[in-house]
Amino acid sequence: MSLTNGTGLIFDERYLNHDTGVQTTVTMRTGSFQLAPEPHPSSLYITQRIKQFLDGSGLTAQMHPVAARPATENELTVYHTRNYIAAVRAHVEGGPVRGDWGEIASDTPLSRGSFDAALYAAGGAMNAVRSVMNGEVRNAYALLRPPGHHAVSNRAMGFCVFNNVAVAAHYARNVYGLERIMIVDWDVHHGNGTQDAFYSDPGVLFVSLHQHNWYPKLSGELEQVGTGAGAGYTVNIPLPAGTGDRGYGAAFEQLVVPIGLQYRPQLVLISAGQDANWLDPLAQMMVTMAGFRKMSELMLGLAEEVCEGRLVMLQEGGYSAAYVPYCTVAAVEPLLGSDVGIADLYAGSAEVERSTTIFTRETHQALAAARKWHKNWWKI
Ligand SMILES: [Zn+2]
Repeated sequence: MSLTNGTGLIFDERYLNHDTGVQTTVTMRTGSFQLAPEPHPSSLYITQRIKQFLDGSGLTAQMHPVAARPATENELTVYHTRNYIAAVRAHVEGGPVRGDWGEIASDTPLSRGSFDAALYAAGGAMNAVRSVMNGEVRNAYALLRPPGHHAVSNRAMGFCVFNNVAVAAHYARNVYGLERIMIVDWDVHHGNGTQDAFYSDPGVLFVSLHQHNWYPKLSGELEQVGTGAGAGYTVNIPLPAGTGDRGYGAAFEQLVVPIGLQYRPQLVLISAGQDANWLDPLAQMMVTMAGFRKMSELMLGLAEEVCEGRLVMLQEGGYSAAYVPYCTVAAVEPLLGSDVGIADLYAGSAEVERSTTIFTRETHQALAAARKWHKNWWKI
């Protein structure tokens, strides 16, 4: 069946077998102490809750299911080393069982189901691209787990195992012969792994908006623009804490969209981590449902203008179990041209009112600095 319209949804129950467990240790300068367990921030229950939001709101029923599949080792080696892939497999197979935790990197817990989940996350990202490139659907949302944008070639990092978006971009190029792919990373942390994957590559334009010098430290500075033939094709937009809906909207209107219109990608990929939300425990950006809806609409508008609407969103981070599902629905709805009418959990509160209207001097200065810097490569 060929559908020129419609939105694909990629999800696989195996994603929930990547179990990051619980935290019980509080680290101090002079040691640590134990306390009652609480879920790890990158909890499977948040992924599960997002899926329940999509199901319960009726959005899933309006979307076309696209199956995930395991990535092959050769598909992963477009970026990752064979040694690293083998290390993850060995760690998971010979290592801890569910409920007993080990880590392949200091901040990335793995469980027995993690290797399989990670293979299906990268494969799900590729199938999302495939469904859009084949015209089965117009655009797609991939609710992946584990996320990918921090993962580097030989190391897990920041809760990420394989770099799903990097693997998907290589797939789009290798299978469909695309010459220009744009990756927009609105996850609040810097997509260091994705930047590294394409740092000298003009065929992939990487644009990242993130809280300045947050995670990883000193990663995503303005000055990191790519190297060699790739110079100018890495566009970092570091933003101050408290940027909010207006600041993000301005960043997209003043930088992301104009640069995209000049680059004219044949496919737009979004690293969609909804952790710039205003309740997130791992950042301080104050973005609401309305802010995510607007970012999604602006990226769709860009894709409509330059590549017949071909756009794929891939789930990255997001750590407020309460609010991330709301913000994810807000990002997904424009893909379908739908509004299911979920009321913003915090709409009407004075705090949210402030976050949607705030536009601080620091945000203004950060945007001005980014425009001035990137003018070296783009007309903005
Ligand atoms: Zn993040």
